[in-house]
Amino acid sequence: MTTLLIAEHDNAQLKDATNKAMTAAAALGGEVHVLVAGQGCKAAADAAAKLQGAAKVLLAEAPAYEHDLAEPLAALIVSLAGSYDAIVAPATSRFKNVMPRVAALLDVMQVSEIIKVVAPDTFERPIYAGNAIQTVKSKDAKKVITVRTSTFQATPGEGGSAAVETVAAAEDPGLSSFVGEEVAKSDRPELSSAKIIVSGGRAMQSRENFTKYIEPLADKLGAGVGASRAAVDAGYAPNDWQVGQTGKVVAPELYVAIGISGAIQHLAGMKDSKVIVAINKDEDAPIFQVADYGLVADLYQAVPELTEELGKLGK
Ligand SMILES: Cc1cc2nc3c(=O)[nH]c(=O)nc-3n(C[C@H](O)[C@H](O)[C@H](O)COP(=O)(O)OP(=O)(O)OC[C@H]3O[C@@H](n4cnc5c(N)ncnc54)[C@H](O)[C@@H]3O)c2cc1C
Repeated sequence: MTTLLIAEHDNAQLKDATNKAMTAAAALGGEVHVLVAGQGCKAAADAAAKLQGAAKVLLAEAPAYEHDLAEPLAALIVSLAGSYDAIVAPATSRFKNVMPRVAALLDVMQVSEIIKVVAPDTFERPIYAGNAIQTVKSKDAKKVITVRTSTFQATPGEGGSAAVETVAAAEDPGLSSFVGEEVAKSDRPELSSAKIIVSGGRAMQSRENFTKYIEPLADKLGAGVGASRAAVDAGYAPNDWQVGQTGKVVAPELYVAIGISGAIQHLAGMKDSKVIVAINKDEDAPIFQVADYGLVADLYQAVPELTEELGKLGK
């Protein structure tokens, strides 16, 4: 069995999601080759060569791969697919866009967001917002799989010594072109790889209150900032902060939920966090059922106090 793992990277470095998807790819058994597609991404390919368990790295560079356009990347993966039994990618926003196209072009079923490899053709994946786990056996000769990275340990990014081989770009189907992008810049850790996340809910009441209460606490803890969908829909927080069924799925060491009720769709995105802390003024809020530590308090009093105490500890 030979597997092609598609790397998530920023041209210079591999993203942590790749290391985690590598663990799933390796669990299929057999060789794992890593595809690094982009423009000016040799450094990322060199990083992929050091991934433990990588047998070979394929480097594909072309202007069409520079800006996350799904169609050219899907065409590239399909052009390479002949040599592989499985094609695996982390279930990041980019690959939620790319992999269904790959599956459709290969005329196979995608197995989405696996959380466990039971056998090379059998996988576990969450359904009903994580309330049930489905075991799926795929009869397709070629498996197209996305990996829910929050449930896999990262493969060490040191110790491997795979050869990097350049592969030709595939013909651009010309279905899409890059016009421009607005990238949110932040010095805070990215949600999907943050070890600590501080999230705010509808109770924050405004964008200004996120800045005033949530962000200083997050910065004291070196945390990423998250939000409930209610906070995002109300415009208190940007879209890419949303945690939950229709947002990001995270599993940090510490998740602090502030003014969040704990609706199942929010829990679907964070209930696998190692330690959950909830601050809510309603002692019956469902978030307390999953919290390891709960504080029944008004956040507008408790959060500044907590931030100040952390400051005294030199945080
Ligand atoms: C198909 C679908 C997908 C969805 N996807 C998502 C998703 O991805 N992520 C997500 O988060 N939601 C999602 N939702 C929405 C979800 O059902 C809830 O509506 C949402 O999570 C509620 O957000 P909240 O907890 O911030 O708001 P609320 O439920 O309104 O809770 C606010 C909480 O703040 C507390 N509070 C109020 N004032 C204070 C104060 N001063 N101090 C302390 N506590 C206070 C209240 O007691 C309450 O518990 C989805 C819904 C559907 C139908």
